[in-house]
Amino acid sequence: MDLIFAEASPPGRGGVSVIRLSGAGARAMLERFAGRVPEPRKAVLRLIRDGDEQLDQALVIWFEAGSSFTGEEVAELQLHGVPVVVRRVSAALQAAGCRQAEAGEFTRRAYVNGRMDLAAVEGLGDLLEAETEAQRKLALQNASGGLSRKVETWRQMLIRAGALIEVSVDFADEDVPDDVPNEVFHILHQLRSEFSGEIDGFHAAEHLRKGFEVAVIGPPNAGKSSLINRIAQREVALVSDIAGTTRDIIELRIDLKGLAVTLLDTAGLRESDDQIEAMGVDRARNRALTADLRLHLSSTGQVDDSLWSDGDIAVTTKADLAAQNTGMAISSVTGAGINQLLDELYERLSLRVSGAGLVSRQRQLSAIRDARDTLQQVDDLPPEILAELIRQTAVSLDRLLGRIGAEEYLDVIFSSFCIGK
Ligand code: GDP
Repeated sequence: MDLIFAEASPPGRGGVSVIRLSGAGARAMLERFAGRVPEPRKAVLRLIRDGDEQLDQALVIWFEAGSSFTGEEVAELQLHGVPVVVRRVSAALQAAGCRQAEAGEFTRRAYVNGRMDLAAVEGLGDLLEAETEAQRKLALQNASGGLSRKVETWRQMLIRAGALIEVSVDFADEDVPDDVPNEVFHILHQLRSEFSGEIDGFHAAEHLRKGFEVAVIGPPNAGKSSLINRIAQREVALVSDIAGTTRDIIELRIDLKGLAVTLLDTAGLRESDDQIEAMGVDRARNRALTADLRLHLSSTGQVDDSLWSDGDIAVTTKADLAAQNTGMAISSVTGAGINQLLDELYERLSLRVSGAGLVSRQRQLSAIRDARDTLQQVDDLPPEILAELIRQTAVSLDRLLGRIGAEEYLDVIFSSFCIGK
């Protein structure tokens, strides 16, 4: 594979800018621009030169092939964090024959060279996009091989079961039916239940990864927009606000004590005679109905039963105007009750992420479902058939880690990475 390079730090001014090179010839390139190559993994201050011209002074780190992120020869230059320096050094590298890396190309090489499996790559992708604590934790677990280690344990169990069967067949008297040792069934039952556990925890893990959608609904003037605005001003909670994909819905992304939550402001859901607008409103209403939870706002405390689902929260608004309040009452004017509402929302959503496993993507889920289905019925089966089922289960686990059948996913996965990663 050719020699690639990219700025690994965000563009713009900063303390340092990191340029990373990977591929055969990285060592020679480092020698050419920074002089003698330092000992592996030891940062050394060097002048960066292009012929006679001095480009910058930088910390230089060298990684040998086989012990770097990509598995190839890798060099890193920690330059001064100035765009013009980065541009000048990049131009010199390009003139010397290095190619600008594509998005995710370093990670792709790490995958191709067997430094990371696909589950870890996906975890890394999630980590790069994480906005909240819960997302960070799950992503980091997978990026650092959490799922991969689990799969390796399962694989060892399959190998043991396979070996036990082989022994029982090889040494059995030909006249006596082969007896499969009980331990084989014990192992396969245990595997099946562990696979089921991961499958059961999928929705929780997916919620951690993607976050929740919470729709704020209620009649016109109930105070929906005021509540959203009030929450948006609490800077601790605010991540970003994104105008909705339709003109009828506004999304506010918040970090609710570590959970990623998108609040949907459905204030635009009004009856309309205009056909096109009515269609848009219908779509938005459906979105509110398929959200993970709804906050039903009204100043009277009444809710529309037709829109109510288990787990929703009824909220009485404009508490400052009422003489007396019962239930969950808020005022977007004084702020009363809003913390309690957010606490209640957090309690309910956090119940839905308990029991989260490490499998958090459809691709992984489908592989592990296949593995579980293969082992659905194993009792009383003859050894040859058990051996075949064990082999099939191992194939599903290989798919889970991307050792096989990964081609169709690769472009999608790596394109979500940034350049330099
Ligand atoms: P929406 O149509 O449900 O989005 O309702 P809005 O948020 O636009 O609020 C409708 C009206 O009620 C506005 O005039 C707000 O100022 C007022 N309002 C909203 N929340 C409160 C509140 O907590 N207390 C008081 N006194 N007025 C409020």
